[in-house]
Amino acid sequence: MNITATHINYYHVCKRKLWLFTHGINMEHTSDTVYDGKLLHETSYPQRAAKFTEIEMSATTKDGVQLLGKIDFYDAKEKIIHEVKRSDRVEEAHEWQVKFYIWLLELNGIQGVHATLEYPKLRQTDEVWITEPDREYLKEVIHKIAVLQESEVCPSRINSKICKSCSYYELCYVGE
Ligand code: SF4
Repeated sequence: MNITATHINYYHVCKRKLWLFTHGINMEHTSDTVYDGKLLHETSYPQRAAKFTEIEMSATTKDGVQLLGKIDFYDAKEKIIHEVKRSDRVEEAHEWQVKFYIWLLELNGIQGVHATLEYPKLRQTDEVWITEPDREYLKEVIHKIAVLQESEVCPSRINSKICKSCSYYELCYVGE
């Protein structure tokens, strides 16, 4: 099986969202939120594409799980990943997503990388570094994602305020 940064992100947002995604149910094409995010990514920093590199990476765990990552803006000289978020709040899921990228680079022999998480709406930038406990935690998360993907039971709805901006909202709450 393949695990990407999207799996890592969804794992931290909602297990049900992750389960739906891993079972091939993808509603993101219908989501204005996702469209807005892509637009913001393309328009917030138009000069970036020329300055930074887009890279794709992969690695295989001991259990045979394929890890895949695509970084849009990587500064190879300074060893910094630049990740832009449309969100108007800082989320733990964003942090784990970029830690996953850092770890994937390490697994490909590139050490000493850190990330900046940029929130144009908040006018805030956070620096993110990875620690040894983080690497162990990511290994655990990957195992748990693999288990969830094998499961036939869809986790319950989380009834959170984030549901209203989730691409699966109608699927989860239809008829209410
Ligand atoms: S709408 Fe809520 S419960 Fe449903 S997948 Fe999204 S976050 Fe999870």
